[in-house]
Amino acid sequence: MYYNNVGVSELEIPLEKSLVIYISQCTNNCLNCHTPYMKEKYGDLLNKYFREIYLVYKNYITCVCFMGEGLNNQKTKEEFKKYCDIIHNDHKLTALYSGRDCLIEDWMEIFDYVKIGSYKEKYGPLTKKTTNQRLYKKINNQYKDITYLFWR
Ligand code: SF4
Repeated sequence: MYYNNVGVSELEIPLEKSLVIYISQCTNNCLNCHTPYMKEKYGDLLNKYFREIYLVYKNYITCVCFMGEGLNNQKTKEEFKKYCDIIHNDHKLTALYSGRDCLIEDWMEIFDYVKIGSYKEKYGPLTKKTTNQRLYKKINNQYKDITYLFWR
């Protein structure tokens, strides 16, 4: 799995300070994709740098948000699981931004937050009430739609 950028943000997950890791090789085909470079095999191997990156930020964050699913195959799912175990071991939260129009899949239950839905220009981003995208938070092992927190 390749990543192309990292940063700290309070925008992606409401009420959390997240280390955001941008995952390359997005397999979605959103019309008017706003970050086409995310579809390329671009950046460095996350497996090689994850611990180093995480150590730099871990005392300043409450959550790690993976922006994109990469190739979304068995190997990437296992890799996400490995990172989530490390993060949860430190009592920090995990988030996945999937750009697919899907339901929450079994393998995604390693994440405390899951965003699903493709970017559709006519419905707008998560910050618009018209958005087709949804952010869920796992509460007592059930995912609750908290998209409304973006509209305050
Ligand atoms: S999820 Fe859609 S908008 Fe985001 S990088 Fe992939 S194709 Fe582009």
